[in-house]
Amino acid sequence: MLDCRNLVVTYESTPVLQNLSIYIGAGEVVALTGPSGSGKTTLLRCIAGLEVVDSGTIFLSGEEITPKPAHLRRIGLVFQDNQLFPHLNVAKNISYSLMIQGTKQKLMDEKVAEVLELVGLTHLSQREVFKLSGGEAKRIAVARALVAQPKVLLLDEPLNGLDKELHARLLADLGTLLRLRGTTTLHVTHDQDEANAIADRVLDIRNLMSH
Ligand code: ADP
Ligand code: MG
Repeated sequence: MLDCRNLVVTYESTPVLQNLSIYIGAGEVVALTGPSGSGKTTLLRCIAGLEVVDSGTIFLSGEEITPKPAHLRRIGLVFQDNQLFPHLNVAKNISYSLMIQGTKQKLMDEKVAEVLELVGLTHLSQREVFKLSGGEAKRIAVARALVAQPKVLLLDEPLNGLDKELHARLLADLGTLLRLRGTTTLHVTHDQDEANAIADRVLDIRNLMSH
């Protein structure tokens, strides 16, 4: 499904990704761990098309996407701080990518309703995002990432900074949801227990590179 081969990224002559290769099969949930500064976010940015690789190739469903711009890659991304659009309400946040694609209003409404139901927040569709609780905002960020049916979902430390109870609840719900949808997922975390709880397979980024 997602196949990255020999990716190299260097910042100001400091190598960050050194010949990194990773493969994720269709429907697999893979957790990626590694210490702070080891290149986890950089890898996700390369896969999403937000970062240019010095060399290496990225395949998605057998197609090489290395030169493809981010908005054509069909990849969903959730950040630690959600990065919801503050001036748009919940429904408009979720439908944004569909609107950009020129999706008809009726279909857009259906898809937004579907993912809102998936994350259990149908009743909040018209809420301003700055009025959401931390847990609600996280669920909306996941719904927004899933609405355009991405081929791969990338989660960058999505559950950091949440209190213990909320962390446990969201982790369990996220695991259930990903399996329900069969979503191919790369879940980045520095929390080994979180990685083991959610993933089919846990990889350490340091073991994916060859020097
Ligand atoms: P992680 O997500 O594993 O904590 P990052 O991918 O964010 O690691 O960063 C890896 C390394 O690359 C760090 O040393 C970081 O300082 C550096 N880095 C990240 N982005 C940039 C950038 N745009 N310019 C220069 N250095 C960067
Ligand atoms: Mg990071």
